[in-house]
Amino acid sequence: MYRVVNPASGETLSEYPVLCDDELQHEIEAAAAAFPDWAARTIADRAALTRRVADVFEERIDDFLPIMAREMGKRPAEGRGEIETVVSIFRYYADRADELLADEQLDIVGGTVTIRRRPTGVILGIMPWNYPVYQVARFVAPNLALGNTMVLKHASNCPETALAIVDALTEANVPEGVYRNLFISTSQVEQVIAHPAVQGVSLTGSERAGRVVAETAGRYLKKVVLELGGSDPLIVLDSDDVAGTAGTIVASRLSNAGQACNAPKRVIVLDDLYDELLAAVVAETERYRAGDPFDETASLAPLSSRAAAEEVVAQVRRAVEQGATLHTGGALLDDTSALMEPAVLSDVRPGTDAYREEIFGPVVVLYRAADVEEALALANDTEFGLGSSVFSSDRRRAREIGARIEAGMVYVNQAGGSQADMPFGGIKRSGIGRELGPLGIDEFANRMTIRH
Ligand code: NDP
Repeated sequence: MYRVVNPASGETLSEYPVLCDDELQHEIEAAAAAFPDWAARTIADRAALTRRVADVFEERIDDFLPIMAREMGKRPAEGRGEIETVVSIFRYYADRADELLADEQLDIVGGTVTIRRRPTGVILGIMPWNYPVYQVARFVAPNLALGNTMVLKHASNCPETALAIVDALTEANVPEGVYRNLFISTSQVEQVIAHPAVQGVSLTGSERAGRVVAETAGRYLKKVVLELGGSDPLIVLDSDDVAGTAGTIVASRLSNAGQACNAPKRVIVLDDLYDELLAAVVAETERYRAGDPFDETASLAPLSSRAAAEEVVAQVRRAVEQGATLHTGGALLDDTSALMEPAVLSDVRPGTDAYREEIFGPVVVLYRAADVEEALALANDTEFGLGSSVFSSDRRRAREIGARIEAGMVYVNQAGGSQADMPFGGIKRSGIGRELGPLGIDEFANRMTIRH
């Protein structure tokens, strides 16, 4: 069952049944039937339609905001930023499709090879609730421009966002079979992956889901792109403006109520700056007030569900039991909602749960490092490898130190974030493959070599 439960109140607002297996088969076949025509269209044709999708999302920004707020608690101001990014992603692939899909020539011994990018078939997207339109756009925009058709399983707590996405694509005249929304249970995912027309699967979500999907895809020899969790380090080497640095760190960590895969989840500070920055981070965090997303005086959203909030609060409690120091916050606000006070932790020691786990909520964790080498050792002492940041007034030094972090992405003097033209993805347990930018359109393409 797909279910809308308002995280600010705990109230169930609506329910949607899942498809039966025959209905699901029919949906996959509709996407398979649409593929030959869609793949045969010109790139210019598909780019024009991708541009039209961008325009429709732009016109409909205000429609998405209350839906996301009701389903997963997003504050409308943050929702607006999300849909603006969505618009930029569709525009990017519309504007650049020609160039990104152009043939490449390769001189080889005894001849020439043309590399031509061709679509491969139906691709399954499995997407999460935390950025419920952006995550879908990252998957849809490049595949739309490339010529694949898509079936999409959204998170079971976001059915109305899923339907609003279908409405927007329909209004933009995306042909019916090119994108099919599937309300299905996780146990029906295998039926989709097993279908011979389905050529790959892209999942954003937890490691647990990633493992199951990758295992199933492996059994049927289907390509996967996985964008999973992270415990991104943010190293502060020095700062000319400690209050400003603290403001940037806290804003980024508490954005979306702390539920971003590439939020700075471990802030590593060199010894001489540590005490001052810790005090500034605590003061900054205490300025945030959790409240209903529609309450304009609130600055922090609820988590996606009561269960998610209880889990984060339990992680904080366990960290303290295992020796960490809690400087502020960390409690639930009431008995029913998913609202929690933002927290700051320090003194998290190796070997404890909080040192190892991803905390998917509004918790800033600070680590003290004696020098750069210790900071890098701490940054790399994780099984995750999504993003990372280095802050310093010396940008070049920050870049060189950042390049030694084991991660898919390094940001200098910025914490996390994502934009249409920048490839996004991780290594180690954070995932496989890249989305966005030029790399994102290649993942489900057949880069065919034509020798002549
Ligand atoms: P999930 O991974 O459970 O959900 C993400 C998507 O995967 C949903 O559509 C979900 O469907 C689907 N899914 C879950 N299990 C399976 C499965 N066995 N086979 C196929 N599809 C599956 O994330 P949660 O909502 O449970 O969040 C838990 C944790 O995941 C977070 O604490 C965080 O660590 C991580 N996460 C990371 C995100 C990121 O941006 N990388 C985003 C969201 C979560 P359904 O809703 O029906 O279960």
